[in-house]
Amino acid sequence: MTQNEIQNIRDDFPILKEKVYGKDLIYLDNAATTQKPRCVIEKMTDAYYRYNANIHRGVHYLSQVATEANEHARATVADFLHAANRHEIIFTRGTTEAINLVAFSFGEAFCHAGDEIVVSVMEHHSNIVPWQMLCERKGMTLRVIPMNEAGELDLDAYRTLLNEHTRLVAVAHVSNVLGTVNPVGDIIALAHEHDIPVLVDGAQSTPHLAVDVTELDADFYVFSGHKIYAPTGIGVLYGKERWLNAMPPYQGGGEMIATVRFEKTTYNELPFKFEAGTPDYIGSVALEEALNYVQRIGLPRIAEHEHALLDYTTRRLLEIDGMRIIGTAHEKSAVISFLVRDIHPYDMGMLLDKLGIAVRTGHHCAQPLIDSLGIPGTVRASFALYNTTEESDRFVEAVKRVSSMF
Ligand code: PLP
Repeated sequence: MTQNEIQNIRDDFPILKEKVYGKDLIYLDNAATTQKPRCVIEKMTDAYYRYNANIHRGVHYLSQVATEANEHARATVADFLHAANRHEIIFTRGTTEAINLVAFSFGEAFCHAGDEIVVSVMEHHSNIVPWQMLCERKGMTLRVIPMNEAGELDLDAYRTLLNEHTRLVAVAHVSNVLGTVNPVGDIIALAHEHDIPVLVDGAQSTPHLAVDVTELDADFYVFSGHKIYAPTGIGVLYGKERWLNAMPPYQGGGEMIATVRFEKTTYNELPFKFEAGTPDYIGSVALEEALNYVQRIGLPRIAEHEHALLDYTTRRLLEIDGMRIIGTAHEKSAVISFLVRDIHPYDMGMLLDKLGIAVRTGHHCAQPLIDSLGIPGTVRASFALYNTTEESDRFVEAVKRVSSMF
């Protein structure tokens, strides 16, 4: 992307003009959440101004407009993921709720004592704990795919974990700590050789790389709106129709029913069976706006820009004495976790903040991964489409300055 294009993109994000302690904000905490472009913020305001009404329930005009907008957003998400059917798209609060939904409902339908679930060592807590809870409920075992020193999953070890007890494999497409892009196509193909379904956690992939759930043959694919320039509170579960149809509802309430009698309730069809209560219909239209925004720029171009930043910043950081980059996979997304000598990540993060630079520090909700590396945590800089080389330079200079203070 040219300087001009990036400047135009930056102009779309009002928050990037904010000052932090009198300094220009440099926002490098995009893996935690991204900033929102004006069109997304305005879409929400517009929906509240012009067609706010509870969806699916009203015969009146506003309710019909809001319902159509919500269903249009569903179709846009289906296109974005290349899902075969729009009723395979369930709106959730985010990745976490989507995984909990599958862990509960798939677990109820298909899991029994003695069964196994396979996750990887680099999972976010939200792709560990729901499966642990399922294992505790049912008397099952969690098995873990290890990784090599670069932070790449050990596929040979993975192969040996798959057996007749394995009920499901759940892996991240991209690690939020290491930036590793996992070979989910191969992981799915291997699981399918044993008729085992796979859930892919797409929280960190969808903002950076084009995803085709049909080509991947993913059984479930989940992501959060707020990590892809949409508001908080809206996310997506894609599930293959045959699984979703065979799974019981996750929550009971309005809208997920066909008929309710005190003797017996029957459930609605997909996708509504899994959308109990008033959904975040403002969030869904804002998510559609965010996906359209990303598509207008184009994910391949976004990826190219972020990769250039990743390579450049990594190279420059390595100029610093005692710099250790955690996560050096061949296939990497624009996330850089690092430590400098024995400087505690928290100290580094606090001092960078004083220089106007927002990074994340700590275990990044991946405690088992951090423990396995024998480190106290990392400092993590994560890039988005609006970051620039100048910001990278200022960031590297700031890390140098802080390092020299210890
Ligand atoms: N999975 C990964 C890989 C993540 O990075 C995150 C958030 O950081 C999540 C899951 C959880 O997402 P959310 O908190 O939006 O549900």
